[in-house]
Amino acid sequence: MIFPIEQFEGLQTPFYYYDKSLLQQTLDTINREAAKYPGYHVHYAVKANVDPTLLKLIRESGLGCDCVSGGEVETCLKAGFPSSKVVFAGVGKSDWEINLALDADIACFNIESIPELEVISQLAVAKGKQARVAIRVNPNVDAHTHKYITTGLSENKFGISMEMLDEVLDVAMKLPNITVIGLHFHIGSQLLELAPFSLLCERINALQEQVEKRGIRLQSINVGGGLGCDYENPDANPIPDFADFFANYAKHLKLRPGQELHFELGRSVVCQCGSLISKVLYVKEGLQKKFVILDAGMSDLIRPALYQAHHKIENISAQAKGEAATDVYDVVGPICESSDCFGENEVLPVTRRGDFVALRSAGAYGQIMASHYNCRRIPASLVL
Ligand SMILES: *Cc1c(COP(=O)(O)O)cnc(C)c1O
Repeated sequence: MIFPIEQFEGLQTPFYYYDKSLLQQTLDTINREAAKYPGYHVHYAVKANVDPTLLKLIRESGLGCDCVSGGEVETCLKAGFPSSKVVFAGVGKSDWEINLALDADIACFNIESIPELEVISQLAVAKGKQARVAIRVNPNVDAHTHKYITTGLSENKFGISMEMLDEVLDVAMKLPNITVIGLHFHIGSQLLELAPFSLLCERINALQEQVEKRGIRLQSINVGGGLGCDYENPDANPIPDFADFFANYAKHLKLRPGQELHFELGRSVVCQCGSLISKVLYVKEGLQKKFVILDAGMSDLIRPALYQAHHKIENISAQAKGEAATDVYDVVGPICESSDCFGENEVLPVTRRGDFVALRSAGAYGQIMASHYNCRRIPASLVL
């Protein structure tokens, strides 16, 4: 990626820079590849990033949205997404959130427990509304990803276990003002292999037969998101392999005639179009190490501290100048935590105070997770 450094001069750092044209190409790829299969519908998992300009592009491209809180439902409706394309998941939906979604007539509640079903039913009865629900099933598939972002194993808090599906369906079918439209799954995030998704399809095939034996016909299957991004080689792989991803579902999942297949993609949509841009405050020489101290820290981008993630670090000022000499640095932030470190023993061009440094692939779960820790400011957006 070529960064428009001239346009960065004079701006308050750190900030998030988003490349609109890369996002547009990503959206075009998703739409082109999904359109190859009848009944495929893609929602954007808005928890990855809610920058208004990005949301507008995503809405205009025709994607729906997947929300995990009432605040997200509000954000999507304000951004102009039609409520008929909004789905709402989460293990802990509070009453006001459910009411908000009922008032908006959203497409579907992805429900995760019997007590939640009962509350949605009560609130729907009170409003005289019908709530469409999909039951989130925990398929016990290991996503082989970081333990904080794996969600489909039986010991996770998410979903209901496969053994309980019959019981939950029985309850759901009897509750007033509840319409069961389908099953929902989401096994985890940042999956770089397709094998866990194939395994998920096999589980779904078996579950479909199980529910059909009970005379239930499902209108839709929702397989969640999880497709990963190449954090180490963002320029070689700027757009995830959506063609393979959708083809894998087409190959392994047995949809019934007319049945819809829904996806909830977050990271794979916005990850590569964003970078956190910061400035080097100091280059500090220790006894054995040299530290590049950035003005960006874990309050701006928490993924390294939270998930031991690594974002590619580029000194874009030195790159622009063609600086050939390199050195080895630990790249750290200013925050009073030892986990506030973006990389150890990073080989970078010789780095100086005032250089711009880009932390790449930061479009997903970056800015949205920023906090005021240490009374720091939330980084702004620059969308070009
Ligand atoms: C977070 C989440 C997603 C999106 O996951 P990605 O890995 O970003 O694609 C989809 N569905 C649900 C229910 C989620 O919680």
